[in-house]
Amino acid sequence: MAEARSIAVIGAGTMGSGIALTAATAGLQAWQIDVSDEQLVRARAYHEKMLNRNVDKQRMTREEADAAIARISYVTDMNDAKAADWVVEAASENIAIKKKIFQQMVNVFSNDVVFATNTSSISITEIATAVASHSERVVGMHFFNPVPVMKLVEVIRGLQTSGETVQRTIALAQQLGKTAVPANDRAGFVSNRVLMPMINEAFYAWMEGVAEPEHIDEIMMLGMAHPMGPLRLADLIGLDVCHDIMMVLYTELGDQKYFPCPMLRQLVTAGRLGNKSGRGVYEYTP
Ligand code: NAD
Repeated sequence: MAEARSIAVIGAGTMGSGIALTAATAGLQAWQIDVSDEQLVRARAYHEKMLNRNVDKQRMTREEADAAIARISYVTDMNDAKAADWVVEAASENIAIKKKIFQQMVNVFSNDVVFATNTSSISITEIATAVASHSERVVGMHFFNPVPVMKLVEVIRGLQTSGETVQRTIALAQQLGKTAVPANDRAGFVSNRVLMPMINEAFYAWMEGVAEPEHIDEIMMLGMAHPMGPLRLADLIGLDVCHDIMMVLYTELGDQKYFPCPMLRQLVTAGRLGNKSGRGVYEYTP
């Protein structure tokens, strides 16, 4: 299987910027695409900061860092990336936005390009309906945050995804230095199907006064060898994101056990979204 040489990454937020950096560091030419110029500027600043840090820590030479950043083009028009031989979509977690992007992709990229989505909860099978006769090339490529550090890529096979597309996705993940693990297209896949109910339960434990947040986190870290407690992890992910994923599980799987805990819902209503808003379960200084 030929190695990928170039990749278009759609979305320059937390995940998209990490994916583009990882690809460029692995030697691929990358297009970082976003509708927002501001997000592109932020992504570039993040790339420079991370590469400089790698040079300082002697993980790479200055020449390697300069070559990596030179491999990334920052663009707002998908057409500028049409030469890419891979596409990974990492735009906002919204089905309408994603379907529109996939409809556009078909008209821009060549006929053998794989269309991967980094969605954490939307059905791959449903996203694939946006590209009709090309749906066998649509696959879930679920990276983890922070992308340059986390080794896992959950590769999700939609109902229409071909075996060849899955194999090519596993090969790309390996080329990026990741370990690919396959899963089927059910709400939350494996990662969020298991993680989010645990986080939700931690909110119940807090709400019911079983323990204070610090103690819930400490128990899970020391007792279960988790590197971070569930409530601090929820703050890192974003409480709104956790809430939305629980709603997807609840809606898709139809079981009351997936309904978001009232405590989680209340914090989201109050705008306490975690690290990104300065306060969630815990407080954060900028
Ligand atoms: P984010 O909000 O940080 O970034 C989303 C970006 O998409 C924004 O920069 C936005 O301007 C851009 N965008 C919106 N519409 C667009 C369009 N039409 N074309 C191009 N760009 C567009 O979100 P994120 O946290 O990076 O998440 C991106 C995807 O990755 C989502 O599907 C999310 O579920 C998934 N994901 C997130 C995490 C996480 O920890 N944040 C982990 C795994 C997967």
